[in-house]
Amino acid sequence: MRDIRTIGDPVLRTPAEPVTDFDRDLRRLIDEMFAAMYAVDGVGLAGPQIGVSRRVFVYDIARRKGHVINPSLTVDDPEPMVDDEGCLSVPDRETRTPLYAKTPRTSGVTVTGLDRLGRPVRIKARGSLARCFQHETDHLDGMLYVDRLPKDAARAVLLKTP
Ligand SMILES: [Zn+2]
Repeated sequence: MRDIRTIGDPVLRTPAEPVTDFDRDLRRLIDEMFAAMYAVDGVGLAGPQIGVSRRVFVYDIARRKGHVINPSLTVDDPEPMVDDEGCLSVPDRETRTPLYAKTPRTSGVTVTGLDRLGRPVRIKARGSLARCFQHETDHLDGMLYVDRLPKDAARAVLLKTP
């Protein structure tokens, strides 16, 4: 089982490389990502979170489950939505559980990318799924949800991290 990397690990701040080989290793990686995510009751996980700097994420949230490779987002509904958001890579140093904060996101997005066999995927999302897609795509650009918070709120979260 792969360990989840936590804030302070440089891999989380490194833009991930596009996936170019749709081979067995990629399929194994996706299986390992699901296993690592379910082991800690996560709802989404991006490659860098297990130390693999590749543009791939998996998700299982709001009865929608899947993976997207080389994702890109387009905004369908720019209306801001603010709700609790947390991250497996931003844990409380004492409880080791994710820290949450009210995080602003865009209400509606469409993600396009590829699946594990290199076939195009396109998923329209609102609400928690849209939030998840934005959160995971941020990971692939070396960003964390705390970067989206007002300064004071970000500081409050960061004070509790390892
Ligand atoms: Zn995260």
